[in-house]
Amino acid sequence: MFSNELEEVNAMAKNRAKEILRILRNNFTLPSWARSSRKLFQTLIRTVLSQTTIDKNTHRAFRNLSTRFPITPKALAKADVREIQKAIRVAGLYKNKSKVIKNLSRIILEDFDGSLDFIYSMSFEEAREILLHIPGVGPKTADVVLLFCTDKPTIPIDTHVNRISKRLGLVPPNVSYETTRQTLQSLYTPKDYLPVHILLISLGRKYCRARNPLCKPCPLNELCPAKQMKN
Ligand code: SF4
Repeated sequence: MFSNELEEVNAMAKNRAKEILRILRNNFTLPSWARSSRKLFQTLIRTVLSQTTIDKNTHRAFRNLSTRFPITPKALAKADVREIQKAIRVAGLYKNKSKVIKNLSRIILEDFDGSLDFIYSMSFEEAREILLHIPGVGPKTADVVLLFCTDKPTIPIDTHVNRISKRLGLVPPNVSYETTRQTLQSLYTPKDYLPVHILLISLGRKYCRARNPLCKPCPLNELCPAKQMKN
């Protein structure tokens, strides 16, 4: 493809992506907490707890854990792993998550003097590299921390964002986490990364469910190549 044709295709894809975001903004409200700065270590622990569970259980597990321990690397590194297990049981996979929480707390305490705050002043790439070297911190967890706590330019690809960006044809099917993230980011400007992440999740919860998506009432159905109008 010649370069001017390619530019035209890219411009069309960006316009379509912009229209999708416009419709999402018109149909969902960005929660007020989305722009408030969050505590980095607490967000890290919450994100570990949130893996393969629903929000309600994540909140309950985090609340239980907070009532038993201060949510600090020092307290959780020293905590009895069975006590962590008891506190976070409701989040599921609690044995594994307890080990991850205790271990990452120990590493942050021993290797980083008990705080990851130094990543605020790093570039996105450097900060992500540091986080990804901590056992138990995968790309999604790192991206959630970087976007919500440090405002660095990334779109975390959770299960909703992954499914919907592919159904909408924003991202090709069957591509990796990294390709999904970078393709989606290429369609938007960094100031839109946070709303894109949150509003695609809102769409996924209300209409674009994994099974039996509600395509008929979905506000994006006219733009969606995957729509099925039986629901
Ligand atoms: S039309 Fe259906 S498949 Fe497409 S985004 Fe909406 S709910 Fe999802």
